[in-house]
Amino acid sequence: MPGQWAGSTRRGRLPTDWPDRVRRVKARDKGICYLCEQPGADTVDHIVPGDDHALTNLAAVHDRNPPHCHRAKSSAEGAAARKTKGGYVSQRRPRERHPGITR
Ligand SMILES: [Zn+2]
Repeated sequence: MPGQWAGSTRRGRLPTDWPDRVRRVKARDKGICYLCEQPGADTVDHIVPGDDHALTNLAAVHDRNPPHCHRAKSSAEGAAARKTKGGYVSQRRPRERHPGITR
């Protein structure tokens, strides 16, 4: 049976308060998409791709709503990731791991 996450662009782990963060970022940005600067943004995106879910790394963006800026950006990121083949060069800070796990 199809998973309920099918079609989601969810990558990695999201914090448990993710829905709340989405609400706060959308309210902060007043629904203005940070890519095209038009209103109507319906989701939020990571400005720097990765596991940094801080509000400062999140911005409102069009996803299901036209012009679907998030989808365009995500496929560009996917292409870039395949090209560099090793992921992202700049991690501004260590990944948030579960406390107690060191590596
Ligand atoms: Zn947009």
